Amino acid sequence: MLRSTKIVATLGPASSDPAILERMVRAGVDVVRLNFSHGTAQDHEKRAALVREIGRKIGRTVAIMCDLQGPKIRIGKFKDGRITLETGARFTLDAECELGDAGRVGLDYKELPRDVDEGAVLLLDDGKIVLEVTAVRGEEVQTRVRHGGVLSDNKGINRQGGGLTAAALTAKDMEDIRTAAKLHADFLAVSFPKSGADMYMARELMRAAGGKAMLIAKIERAEAVKQDALLSIMGACDGIMVARGDLAVEVGDAAVPALQKRMIRLAREHNKLTITATQMMESMISSPVPTRAEVSDVANAVLDGTDAVMLSAESASGKFPVQTIEAMDRICVEAEQTQSISLDQDFLNRVFSRVDQSIAMGALFTAFHLKVKAIAALTESGATALWMSRLNCGVPIYALTSQTSTRYRCALFRDVYPLMVKYVGHDREELLQEAEKVLVENGVVKQGDLIVLTIGEPIGKAGGTNTMKIVRVGEHLEA
Ligand code: PGA
Ligand code: MN
Repeated sequence: MLRSTKIVATLGPASSDPAILERMVRAGVDVVRLNFSHGTAQDHEKRAALVREIGRKIGRTVAIMCDLQGPKIRIGKFKDGRITLETGARFTLDAECELGDAGRVGLDYKELPRDVDEGAVLLLDDGKIVLEVTAVRGEEVQTRVRHGGVLSDNKGINRQGGGLTAAALTAKDMEDIRTAAKLHADFLAVSFPKSGADMYMARELMRAAGGKAMLIAKIERAEAVKQDALLSIMGACDGIMVARGDLAVEVGDAAVPALQKRMIRLAREHNKLTITATQMMESMISSPVPTRAEVSDVANAVLDGTDAVMLSAESASGKFPVQTIEAMDRICVEAEQTQSISLDQDFLNRVFSRVDQSIAMGALFTAFHLKVKAIAALTESGATALWMSRLNCGVPIYALTSQTSTRYRCALFRDVYPLMVKYVGHDREELLQEAEKVLVENGVVKQGDLIVLTIGEPIGKAGGTNTMKIVRVGEHLEA
């Protein structure tokens, strides 16, 4: 059974053993995420090489996404590694403190005293600890503990409602972009962007480093979900991540489900990709089965129309990485079978003026009404397949390409299955025959099946899709 929704799995200690990683890939990983918040450039390069090797060995296209750490604001370290904060107690965040104790702790982000005022609410460790600012004195942010608990070294700080001024790209991120380019990342995720300008900057740095990665904007700041900012980010990225971990802390957890739906809808309208991330299968870090709530969460993200569902600690440091992917796979497949298809209505909100886009839309419409077996998009850049995949017509889309980088990026597109065509000549008939052969050889179609094919003429030029053809498999070859 084909799965439309893609699975992104974060790699870490739990997925470092080549045998485990291979089992994870066989179980259905489409994209691996290298989390640059942990590990060295060398670790990531080694991991990337291993992923490519396993993909080649078992004949699966597995893409690589590098995820930049970004300006995650963190407290410093404690003398004893951890403290317990009592509710109601006073606690100081001190930019000049070296080693923390029960009364104060240092900050890696020295600007915090300039960014907050009395009354601001700070959430530590993903909101597990809540501090209310009572005064700011020089380099000290004095607070009262509204909700206490155990606080350990280097935990993250968010401000409720957003408003911290830290730039989206740190010096470390700039270095990491070069590493991402070097290991031929297919996707680059940018953490905490506030506007389209942050994404332009990342794109320029990527380009300067010689990388070709598609850019994913992680939406995880309160500022980023305001309509203007969201549209500017959307215009400057290739896709977004609904980064529910930090986002929930900044905007409040209850606001996130509706934001997820709104962002996925908006992204699809803008021909952008979406990844739904964080705590999707959280309990499977230590349990071999998911909770009912997690099953519903994954299924609902599928019904929202996300391109991919993402695993973080579940696959990076959990006890059951393979089982988690197996569970996600079956939940996605079943949810997809129950989703309703309303292509005709979905078309109503679409505007397109480009020739290639018009062909993509025409192919979708035709495929849906003729109930064809498959859509085959002969594509250089993957753009035709991306446009087709923004609407759900219930027919699988095969992206046939001779470009390796295109094959990898298509691994993230919902409903799209990349296949390699080796033909690089310029003869239309030969190319069509080769395409048909690839589809038959991969067991996608058989003699007599109807397919819709799109192609750009002259052959071999990117962005040139201008032709749609309806083909009965085999007829062509017999003629
Ligand atoms: P992170 O991003 O895992 O890098 O923090 C995802 C999120 O915040 O949800
Ligand atoms: Mn985050």
